[in-house]
Amino acid sequence: MTQSATDGDNNAQNDGDNNAANEAQSDTQNNDQNNHQNDALNDSQDPAMQTKQPPVVAADEQPELISSSSSSSSNPDSNPSANPLSLPTPQASLYVVATPIGNMGDISARAIATLKQVDIIACEDTRTSGKLLSNFGIDTQTWAYHEHNSEIQTPKIIEMVQRGVSVALISDAGTPLISDPGYQLLQAAHNAGVNVVPIVGACAAIAALSVAGLPSDKFSFLGFLPAKTHGRVKQLQKFASNTETLIFYEAPHRIEVSLNDMVTVFGANRPATLCRELTKTFETVKKATLGELADFVAADSNQQKGEIVLVVGGDINHTGDDLGVHDTLLLRLLDDLSVKKAAALASDITGVKKNALYQRLLELQKQG
Ligand code: SAM
Repeated sequence: MTQSATDGDNNAQNDGDNNAANEAQSDTQNNDQNNHQNDALNDSQDPAMQTKQPPVVAADEQPELISSSSSSSSNPDSNPSANPLSLPTPQASLYVVATPIGNMGDISARAIATLKQVDIIACEDTRTSGKLLSNFGIDTQTWAYHEHNSEIQTPKIIEMVQRGVSVALISDAGTPLISDPGYQLLQAAHNAGVNVVPIVGACAAIAALSVAGLPSDKFSFLGFLPAKTHGRVKQLQKFASNTETLIFYEAPHRIEVSLNDMVTVFGANRPATLCRELTKTFETVKKATLGELADFVAADSNQQKGEIVLVVGGDINHTGDDLGVHDTLLLRLLDDLSVKKAAALASDITGVKKNALYQRLLELQKQG
């Protein structure tokens, strides 16, 4: 995977991510479709798995845990080839465990076994994860681990693992660290020489790519776009000429404006696939052009609900304009502005020299 080329913008990007994620979450909670989904999931659960929710220990009440190096939970028979469902390493480790992105049936047997066997589960939101854990009869102690307490919790967790306590990290849904908390913890784990183990599973970006019908040999995961138009257009512009497939997470209330901006920057004819509510009741996978998807979403408010991944084809017909600024953007600016003002605004957005853009705009104007 080509990780987001916006590494340098990580902080800004993360803010956007979290806002978008929170907003998406509240949209989701208000979404009838999702309520039906949850009902359907709960109905389909084995009643034997409906155990009571594990106790939640607040960050400041979390008890000192004694090293469990002699306990069976941290040191089960750990030869994975002998028993693939026991923890895969003999020493206490930090397990990064993927959970479902909707359908609870997508949790892996190994994830359940790991979450049962570790001493502590660090959760993005203990209440959200409590539902999942109780569904699978997991009563392991949970700790809150999210962006607002990660500075305090990171050293505590690392110290625990160093003392022989096994910890699993989970997020609200999908794979931790993929537009979710955990980077600081994993960075600290590596710095401290703590053993880290991935327990693989669902990820919305990869699920979307797998069904998008777009080239998947090379792709960039770009996470959430900035919430404000100026920042969003600027970010899109950076990737307008990339030839690989682009994967975006998007909040439901912004999907319409984001698609419109993509039409402006990438062009209406760029192929793209809208993947909404994957693995849930109202799952939608629609491949079309960006222009058609913008119309589709504008015409049906249901398409502006739930959780969304947008997969956009790369610029495989790239005409290679020398400036690296898409003519579609320049032409759109010319609709509303004089050549001079369009050149100034495009230069402001892209950082390309105003004079070069002015010349290109004159050429485009001549071409009609
Ligand atoms: N860590 C998660 C993962 O592995 O995919 C992503 C967490 S991020 C905070 C949440 C965003 O992922 C949503 O706003 C949406 O863009 C995307 N997403 C999560 N679940 C999804 C689903 N079931 N269908 C479509 N998109 C989903």
